Amino acid sequence: MAALQIHQIPCLQDNYGYLIHDPDAVLTATIDTPDAGAIERALTERGWQLDYILNTHHHFDHAGGNLALKAKTGCVIVGSRSDARRIPGIDILVGEGDTFTLGSHRARILETSGHTVGHICYVFDDDNAAFVGDTLFSLGCGRLFEGTPAQMWASLQKLMALPGDMRVYCAHEYTANNGRFAVTLEPRNAALAARVREVATLRAAGRPTVPSTIGLEKATNPFLRPASPELRATLGLPAATDADVLGATRRRKDSF
Ligand SMILES: [Zn+2]
Repeated sequence: MAALQIHQIPCLQDNYGYLIHDPDAVLTATIDTPDAGAIERALTERGWQLDYILNTHHHFDHAGGNLALKAKTGCVIVGSRSDARRIPGIDILVGEGDTFTLGSHRARILETSGHTVGHICYVFDDDNAAFVGDTLFSLGCGRLFEGTPAQMWASLQKLMALPGDMRVYCAHEYTANNGRFAVTLEPRNAALAARVREVATLRAAGRPTVPSTIGLEKATNPFLRPASPELRATLGLPAATDADVLGATRRRKDSF
């Protein structure tokens, strides 16, 4: 079985689109549709035909290209059952515990409400690849537009349960800014300091900081580290619940 091919497409201001391709079955999917034109060009360059759109959530920079791509390619659109009314052109409705298969590559669907209610992630266990939309960023997480801190914490814990070497394909390049915030919370976190240096080097060279890994994020990302004594001391919340620490971290980031 050939490996799942993953092609990363920088688009819009700071979004990443992703094409995934099974060369044996000759099947291709795009994770979200941030920019229909950029996705079409990437398909043409590779000689791939679009078979599926896998949406993580309804925001325009994730589903805004759905109808244009469907009209041009006849692709099938997969999205969240609990957010179906907001996913343009949705055909296949999925939720927690469901699977989606591209050729011989299987993804588990995780419901990760928080950024939006009904946000989902696609975890290809055998390919070590998790497409997490706007739930988890490198050194950050999505804003809580619709969900509560408790919902987001439950969602992030699902991602934290994945293997440490699981690659995390986030939908935005926000890492440098996230790092500037993270060091204010854990200035003595050596792994975080090292990651911030790596990010500076990558960005100076015009390279992406994504994908990250679950293991790296657990060691450095303040939104996965509400148990950290240093982070709790910075926030003045030594005895709060993890969800409350996450909420306080998110509010502080919102005005950073
Ligand atoms: Zn979003």
